[in-house]
Amino acid sequence: MNLLVVGSIALDTIETPFAKVGETPGGSALYISISASYFTKPIGLVGVVGDDFPGDVIEELRNRGVDLRGLQIINGAKTFRWGGKYHYDMNTRETLFTYLNVFADFNPAIPDEFKSSRYVCLGNIDPGLQMKVLKQVRNPKLVIADTMNFWIERKYDELLETLKYVDVLIVNDAEARQIAMEPNLIKAGKKILKLGPDVVVIKKGEHGAVLIIDGTIFTAPAYPIESIQDPTGAGDSFAGGFAGWIAKTDDISEENLRKAVIYGSAIASFCVEDFGISKIRNLSWDKIQERFIAFRELTRFEIK
Ligand code: AMP
Repeated sequence: MNLLVVGSIALDTIETPFAKVGETPGGSALYISISASYFTKPIGLVGVVGDDFPGDVIEELRNRGVDLRGLQIINGAKTFRWGGKYHYDMNTRETLFTYLNVFADFNPAIPDEFKSSRYVCLGNIDPGLQMKVLKQVRNPKLVIADTMNFWIERKYDELLETLKYVDVLIVNDAEARQIAMEPNLIKAGKKILKLGPDVVVIKKGEHGAVLIIDGTIFTAPAYPIESIQDPTGAGDSFAGGFAGWIAKTDDISEENLRKAVIYGSAIASFCVEDFGISKIRNLSWDKIQERFIAFRELTRFEIK
């Protein structure tokens, strides 16, 4: 297995100032694996759902080259549910509810075939579960991880423990400040580097993303979108594009990490154009590539 993805698989209820959608498929692992599937196959998915999760979405993942031997479907139990509400500027989000359901007793068992995965992408779940996964994989080349305020507030010590084994941490600006307890983002990123990761990517919503590696900083803009429908999953799609590109190219040089940031930003920019997974499930390599190239034009200038 080239890329192992672990994370939540959810039924989301999303409210924006313009529309409301109930019980739509989501979760970090779903967004990550769909996004990464445009870059690399097979992808090993580890997660859990109840028997109320739509079978057609599971089938779609299979058709995308996602190996589902690590997916547990618990009969008679409910899938993880999350509800979020966006305010007028779409950059601020309020969590309305989080029902862990099947996640409360989830014990991730990594199939033998997945244990030697070269790349591991730990989507946003309980950091204790992320650690349980890492203990089962053998010497991966790169571990990429995400987290969320929910876990930073409730499981800070476990998160610090997990970070010791993470190579690339991808978080948003608020999460970076919260983890590092530091308001300045660059200082926060540098503090996080002292906790374990060699690389930190800080996503700033419509203001782009910053890649921080020991001595260097690379910033990428966000693609200018005039009609943002739903920002849910943008962060996870970013992680999926980032991890997918790295797994496809098998190159963890700084130059290639920069490209991964742009691929992540490209997929995230598609994600927000429609509700839930609607947009990212209907992409093509050509569309992704076209947007990747458009990113270069956004910041290109000449020095005479
Ligand atoms: P993002 O917008 O990229 O931060 O991710 C949104 C996704 O994260 C939604 O599809 C939710 O189902 C999922 N999610 C929200 N809260 C949690 C949580 N506490 N643990 C795991 N996944 C979550």
